[in-house]
Amino acid sequence: MIKFDRYKNGKHFAVTFSYDDGNEADRRLVELFNKYNLKATFNLISGRFDHDTVVKAEEINTLYQGHEIAVHTLTHPHLERMPITAQTTEIFEDRKNLETLCGYIVRGMAYPYGTYNEDTLTAMKACGIVYSRTTGHSRGFSLPEDFLLWHPTCHHTEAEPVIKNFLENTLKQTWNFGGLLYIWGHSYEFDRMNNWDLAEKICSSISNLDDVWYATNIEIYDYVTAMRALTVSTDGKKIYNPSGISVWVSVNGESIEIPPAKTVCVG
Ligand SMILES: [Zn+2]
Repeated sequence: MIKFDRYKNGKHFAVTFSYDDGNEADRRLVELFNKYNLKATFNLISGRFDHDTVVKAEEINTLYQGHEIAVHTLTHPHLERMPITAQTTEIFEDRKNLETLCGYIVRGMAYPYGTYNEDTLTAMKACGIVYSRTTGHSRGFSLPEDFLLWHPTCHHTEAEPVIKNFLENTLKQTWNFGGLLYIWGHSYEFDRMNNWDLAEKICSSISNLDDVWYATNIEIYDYVTAMRALTVSTDGKKIYNPSGISVWVSVNGESIEIPPAKTVCVG
């Protein structure tokens, strides 16, 4: 039986982080993520780079290396209270500024305040945004049906019991399809709450696990999109991968790699 239930390199589980606003405490958080080989996405407000407590434009390229930079709009407004033209400007200008600074194509976003309306979805599509994170708490590990409404698992303040549950699943090798732990927050909250020990605890408890793929938000998006594009023959014996990246599936419980633009016989 073919199942679409594997991440990169055949792993069963994935972990990702998303941190907003580009506060200077990101420097400490990035250091922590790097120490534990974790991957994160940082949602930046490029209209605020000259503010005192915010990371500087000139450090964007080096500070976040190995992680993903994504849109959090130009000035962090309540998008749903704005006309669609202004929403589009907020998203597009931020994307443009970030691409100039980081040198690669920026495709992700997190909603400022987690709020949006129908026009926001239209504006994001017009601006080339392929996924956007809300501030919802699914408390589960499933993948989003619609990546433009991507609800994370939980905020970092609620992470400890959720991680416990996640680790139990990884140990028992039991999981519902998805297997994605997605934690979000703001780095400055660790300063305000004086609880960097929590950050360290979260990172150390989920790092370097054999059956976990550590990825940025856009890597998860690209992988799952490629997985959803796989085509299986009518007799269930061939799988075609039309995408540009390798995808892993399981056939009778065994991981099989389907290389990009290739058809693999599995029966
Ligand atoms: Zn924000």
